[in-house]
Amino acid sequence: MVDNYRHKGMRKRLVAEIKFKGISDERILDAIDKIPRHLFLDSSFLEFAYEDKPFPIGSGQTISQPYTVAFQTELLEVKKGQKILEIGTGSGYQACVLAELGAKVYTIERQKKLYQRTKEFLPKIGYRQIKVFYGDGYKGIPAFAPYNGILITAAAPEIPQKLVEQLNPGGVIVIPLGEGDIQTMIRLTKKPDGSLTEEHFGGFRFVPLLKDKSDD
Ligand code: SAH
Repeated sequence: MVDNYRHKGMRKRLVAEIKFKGISDERILDAIDKIPRHLFLDSSFLEFAYEDKPFPIGSGQTISQPYTVAFQTELLEVKKGQKILEIGTGSGYQACVLAELGAKVYTIERQKKLYQRTKEFLPKIGYRQIKVFYGDGYKGIPAFAPYNGILITAAAPEIPQKLVEQLNPGGVIVIPLGEGDIQTMIRLTKKPDGSLTEEHFGGFRFVPLLKDKSDD
């Protein structure tokens, strides 16, 4: 798996573009600079790997746009050593960004093929510490709860209550909420009494969060 000067140059341009669009957290920019995004796509799509666009990854799913990955990660305000749960593993790229920030990453995918591919792929590029699970993200992963942050990378029609239960007091959920074409990015913060505060951050477009797991 090759990561050469050409790829590194392409990544530098991508980082500059994302910075220009408003991402300022240097740790996140460094992570994008470091992670070989072209390896998450089929090798024939190299020229698309470093465009700031989402891209199909099979099973009808997409790798999120780098700007969106960076934006959601900023909202999570990850600190080193925190436990973060990601719903919607997909290619695993977002999980690697979280791992680069020093988070203990748990990620869950409902599509079996995608889960298997990503679970095998991540250790090959050095991300052995990311824990990948197959299942329905609506239910979270109670065995490892509570989490400091929960990141949902698919469009949710409602706030999954099981995920709120698995969040630490003071923790945040970042969730693209809504059923139409465009979702509103929302950050929920759990107060010590268990209630949630809600902040809104504009429109984004995600593939839907679906119920139950899929065998193919
Ligand atoms: N974070 C991914 C992008 C994911 S796209 C990346 O960095 O590449 C959204 C993913 O959510 C898809 O792979 C989809 O299969 C998955 N998904 C949808 N509903 C889900 C659910 N209920 N539980 C777990 N994963 C789900």
